[in-house]
Amino acid sequence: MATYVITGAASGIGAASRHTLEAGGHTVIGVDLGHTDVTADLSTPGGRAAAAAAVTERSGGVVDGLVCCAGLGSLSHVPGGKLIAVNYFGAVELVTALKPALERADGASVVVISSSSTTTQPGVPENLVTACLRGDEAEAVRIGDEVTAIPAYPASKLALAWWVRREAVRPEWIGSGIRLNAIAPGMIDTPMTSGDDLDPELAKALDFYPVPLGRRGRPDEIAALVEFLLGPGSTLFCGSVVFADGGTDAQLRQQDW
Ligand code: NAD
Repeated sequence: MATYVITGAASGIGAASRHTLEAGGHTVIGVDLGHTDVTADLSTPGGRAAAAAAVTERSGGVVDGLVCCAGLGSLSHVPGGKLIAVNYFGAVELVTALKPALERADGASVVVISSSSTTTQPGVPENLVTACLRGDEAEAVRIGDEVTAIPAYPASKLALAWWVRREAVRPEWIGSGIRLNAIAPGMIDTPMTSGDDLDPELAKALDFYPVPLGRRGRPDEIAALVEFLLGPGSTLFCGSVVFADGGTDAQLRQQDW
């Protein structure tokens, strides 16, 4: 049985992934702001370093898989810079800090949670995406605060998907047997899309979000994909961005591959 680390494990997709993996007999180390094994604030470099140290100690230095679910949505009143710090830097810096523990496993798998907003939301600020991919957190946070959370959200998730595609094929990762992949969920019914702190006007707009399947996704449906991407059935997946959105991307981008 494997040892997996899940950030954002206290709620939504992270909590559902924990449930699914534990039901499969695996050990899960959760990381979140509270209500799980490791309490850490992934919006700061110090919080990320503390999370990596605590996870390394708890896992005995060997991590078979890491799932980065921790994130802030754009529908509550969150500054755009903070959203960037958690969604992008909180994920890539933790993956990087845990690389030694992932290398010690026999074929580790990393899954980050991107979003279908990367292809369906217009007006993604490109300078924000490139600042993230350059690793310039101060500049990315500055731009995020300037543009606000609504455009910063798909920018954070596009940068995350592109980071996975860029890094996955490098010898430092795949040469060490570590597979990096991303999931791009559509609208999933979690506190991020139906919590009490959402802006009521923006929350209402979600009712018009096109989902050909006819309903929002459930967290356990994304957890099933997480389980697959961590497990032995997905060994050919390397640098993939897997959309799980009930058909939204296909409907809105009929001509694109
Ligand atoms: P959620 O709000 O239920 O869970 C997010 C978790 O992240 C929470 O437990 C929260 O405490 C944690 N978190 C936030 N800031 C943190 C910080 N600074 N440090 C540590 N943990 C922090 O939301 P969810 O819907 O389960 O979202 C999980 C991931 O899926 C997010 O990255 C989100 O952007 C992504 N996503 C969600 C949807 C959706 O429709 N729900 C769609 C696409 C992508």
